[in-house]
Amino acid sequence: MEVQEPPVYVIVPGKCYRRDSDATHTPMFHQVEGLAVDEDITLADLKGVLLEFARAIFGREREIRLRSSYFPFTEPSVEVDVSCFACGGSGTLADGSRDPLCKGSGWIEILGAGMVDPNLYGFVADKGYDPERVQGFAFGMGIERIAMLRHGVPDLRMFFDNDLRFLEQFG
Ligand SMILES: [Zn+2]
Repeated sequence: MEVQEPPVYVIVPGKCYRRDSDATHTPMFHQVEGLAVDEDITLADLKGVLLEFARAIFGREREIRLRSSYFPFTEPSVEVDVSCFACGGSGTLADGSRDPLCKGSGWIEILGAGMVDPNLYGFVADKGYDPERVQGFAFGMGIERIAMLRHGVPDLRMFFDNDLRFLEQFG
């Protein structure tokens, strides 16, 4: 946005780093961020994009839900859950036991998103971003986490162990 006038529609993959290492966190992971800024962009557009994404990755019968949250650059901010593909959203498996994947809730958190905070446009006003004229949404998701859910991978660190027996399954 500092170098381009509106409208903006981008998908930005990249590496992220953090001090974390266990079965569901790695010190380096890949994040995909999306940003759309144009006239007449609403939260309904964000929800439509995310619903289409969730159905493309996890199946056409999936639903999503938005929960209010906080991120520094979006207002309002939301956490996005997809209905559980292991139990069909019931929270219970066929044998009557509690689904461990969604912990019995029927929902799985997949990403964070929100509407671009109107105050942010003040920093790029010289590029023609007028909060009275443009609105936008943004989202960010961890690629390995999505792949982990999609393929039932038990440990996030397996993506970086470089064990060919693991990697060749996705060839
Ligand atoms: Zn479930």
